[in-house]
Amino acid sequence: MAAPEDHARLSASASHRWLHCTRAPLLEEQFPERTSVYAEAGRVAHAIAELKARKYFVEPMSPGQYRSRLKKLRDDPNYDKGMDSATDQYLDHLKARAMSYPEPPFIALETRVDYSHIAPSGFGTADCIMIGSGRMDVCDYKNGAGVPVEAEDNPQMMLYALGALNIYRPIYGDTIQTIHLSIIQPNAGGVKDWGVTRAELEHWAEATVRPAAALAWKGEGEFCPGDWCRFCRAKAQCTARAAKLLAPEPKEKTLAEGSLSPEAKTEALAAGAVLLDDTQVGEVLQRALELESWVKDLKDYALSAALAGRAISGFKLVAGRSAREWGDLDTAFQTLQERGVEGAMLWERNPITVAKLEKALGKKNFAKAADGLVAIRPGKPALVPATDKRPAWSPAKAAFGEVTDG
Ligand code: SF4
Repeated sequence: MAAPEDHARLSASASHRWLHCTRAPLLEEQFPERTSVYAEAGRVAHAIAELKARKYFVEPMSPGQYRSRLKKLRDDPNYDKGMDSATDQYLDHLKARAMSYPEPPFIALETRVDYSHIAPSGFGTADCIMIGSGRMDVCDYKNGAGVPVEAEDNPQMMLYALGALNIYRPIYGDTIQTIHLSIIQPNAGGVKDWGVTRAELEHWAEATVRPAAALAWKGEGEFCPGDWCRFCRAKAQCTARAAKLLAPEPKEKTLAEGSLSPEAKTEALAAGAVLLDDTQVGEVLQRALELESWVKDLKDYALSAALAGRAISGFKLVAGRSAREWGDLDTAFQTLQERGVEGAMLWERNPITVAKLEKALGKKNFAKAADGLVAIRPGKPALVPATDKRPAWSPAKAAFGEVTDG
């Protein structure tokens, strides 16, 4: 099930991109939408999450009905056992939010919200909306394990909230004054919450969204490359992104902004040999990471173009390396044994990893079964961009540990 908002030009899920780069939505329309195994897994997990919430809050069903609907979803090839506990966490969060209202709130699931009064033809689908006592909750389940998503200042969630205020205005008028946004991402950091007032949300809508949306709808404004390019369908071929990544750094700027003293810079220039200082190393590395990701996008694009019969200058397709494998495994192994190969030689036993067993059993069952059996081996320190949400690691603290009295 593709979320219908995927087809909105100014979709909430792409808003981080079109709010920055107003030229993106129109440019993207010439590229086909692609799905991925992650998107397919997300589709199944969302459907399970919805079923659980529906059964608990809005559509009582017999255990038989529930089991049969759940079984259908579990039969999907993209289902995995970890989705059971992940969607339980989603339901637990919804229950906790519902309990926080002085009286049972109104609850709507998988609701099409409409923010077209701010962004032309803008609509999206909110996983769960709760309203009561002058408050509103908007909750969104995310199945991804890759990039943890923050709730604070999240434009997708803020647009959902604006859309929900809009569609429920005929019933609640302007009585909703505070809004609580939650992202439930069990596979990457758990629950992220953020509270915002209606006035703040409406100010953002007028000051930021409306002007950007007016440009983005018509494909006007400036191309603006940034980290939002990575989900843009034009990301491989966009010349604005290419120009940003390939633009040479002016030499004077590099030298002027480095940490060398003016005398050292003059000396270094005169000697014709300049070492990058640590500031410059950081700048080059940051650009190299963006280039690395762009090179991958280009390779993916060029391969699909070549497979579609187009010529990519300077490249050609070659046959993949062939691999040997057993024709029919059962027949092959039986025949091998008849020919004197020991059965024990035919199978290898490898211990299952902690992560794989947890995925197979689900978080709850795993926690019970593996209690006291898992050792934590600290990972090697890694260098990541300063914008990474993880706390910084200090070699000094790690070497000397906590200093305690006595
Ligand atoms: S790749 Fe980046 S700069 Fe180019 S259109 Fe997409 S978002 Fe804009």
